[in-house]
Amino acid sequence: MKEVYVDREQCISCGLCVSLVPEVFRFEEDKSIAHDPHGAPENRIQECVDGCPVSAIHWREEQE
Ligand code: SF4
Repeated sequence: MKEVYVDREQCISCGLCVSLVPEVFRFEEDKSIAHDPHGAPENRIQECVDGCPVSAIHWREEQE
């Protein structure tokens, strides 16, 4: 199963992902984190992946 994560080095804190899908993303110390990677359907998360202006949101294979 894949899960989403935010590269905090890249995030410029624009707020898009946090406002689009707050079930998954929130600000922590001024940068977005995926606090609940499975908190929303993949297609909604994908909108954030596609919409992030600096492409800071990525998928990765979940560790077992
Ligand atoms: S959309 Fe991208 S740059 Fe904007 S807050 Fe989310 S991760 Fe950061």
